[in-house]
Amino acid sequence: MRKLFIEDLKLAGKRVLVRLDYNVPGDAEGRVTNDARITASLPTLRHILAEGASAVLCSHRSRPKGDEPRYSLRPVAARLEELIGLPVGMARRGAVVSDEARNMAAALSPGELMLLENLRYDPREQEGREELARELASLADLFVNDAFPVCHRKDTSVVGVPRFLKSAYGYQLREEVENLSQLLGEVQRPYVGIMGGAKISTKLGVVKSFLERVDRLLVGGGMAYTFLAALGREVGGSIHEPDYLEYAKDLLLRHADKIVLPTDHYVVERIDPACKARLADEIPADRAAVDIGDATRRRFAEEIARARTVFWNGPVGYFEDSRFAEGTRSVAREVAKLKAKGAFTVVGGGDSVAAVEDAGLDSASFSFVSTGGGASLEFVQGKELPGIEALTDR
Ligand code: ADP
Ligand code: MG
Repeated sequence: MRKLFIEDLKLAGKRVLVRLDYNVPGDAEGRVTNDARITASLPTLRHILAEGASAVLCSHRSRPKGDEPRYSLRPVAARLEELIGLPVGMARRGAVVSDEARNMAAALSPGELMLLENLRYDPREQEGREELARELASLADLFVNDAFPVCHRKDTSVVGVPRFLKSAYGYQLREEVENLSQLLGEVQRPYVGIMGGAKISTKLGVVKSFLERVDRLLVGGGMAYTFLAALGREVGGSIHEPDYLEYAKDLLLRHADKIVLPTDHYVVERIDPACKARLADEIPADRAAVDIGDATRRRFAEEIARARTVFWNGPVGYFEDSRFAEGTRSVAREVAKLKAKGAFTVVGGGDSVAAVEDAGLDSASFSFVSTGGGASLEFVQGKELPGIEALTDR
């Protein structure tokens, strides 16, 4: 990358503001139920501390209304203390950049760290306000962004702070960029894209850009029913978007040879735990499709088996109900077989990562599992991400 990397910075004796992705899931009290994102931040933090700098960490957590206590980062600080084996100070209450937080930051010695409260407790974070950018920047000498999942946003901590501090990217961000970049240039073929998820409207750009680059695009999940409806097929109560029929029709016309749609489905009367699914070639008008059918699974498996490069985003069924997760699990298993054969396989998307776990697999089963969600989807279209653009040029 043509941007500064954390290893390019002279860190000794400096105070570093670090933007992390501590948007960890929690229970009703806000206790951390999965600490993968905290663990993932350790290489960057250990590097900063080992080089003799101190660190002021910041992140958002979920979408709080006001300063809802369940989205506090306090439980994250507690978990981080255990993982890194050092105290992680936090200001007691008040504004994100309160006087207390300022004093704590000023008092940090080399090798010490502290965490600011949920950035989204301050409405200015998502308004991209310069005033908050200045407040955050005043806490440190340097800035490191290691939060790839927010790099597609123009939030204050993402694009505002780098206007005031020399800014570099950290180890996690590098990992994302290095892996996802491999999907953009020359790839080993066949290149197979697998797209699912709820709506085509949230993924128009990705679908279009993939159709231009892949050899096959396997389409499942809610998105598939918009395509099938565009072909004039009955989709019953399956999720689909009537406003995008023309769009889907146009893609089908231009890329008929690449798009592989489901040919059979598991259908239910309603999406309801009480309703039993049955296999059908055509979706009855009074039924909704909730998973790809057996023949479709076999067809997808054949296409996947031939692939040398795979990008998969979006579950191919309503996988939150385990009865309808089997299609998604079969996709996960087929893709997981490829890495050992030397193929390059990437999974991206919040629900897709959950689906991988649901299938009993983990990141080791794939060349790369992106935690980037929306940011990954923008990046793999070849778009420049504002959070990366904002960093200091080498
Ligand atoms: P990702 O986060 O991986 O990008 P999306 O957010 O686009 O994926 O979509 C995931 C959602 O799509 C899941 O909640 C899943 O249940 C839903 N979904 C997929 N297929 C269906 C279907 N046939 N019917 C209802 N919901 C579906
Ligand atoms: Mg999602």
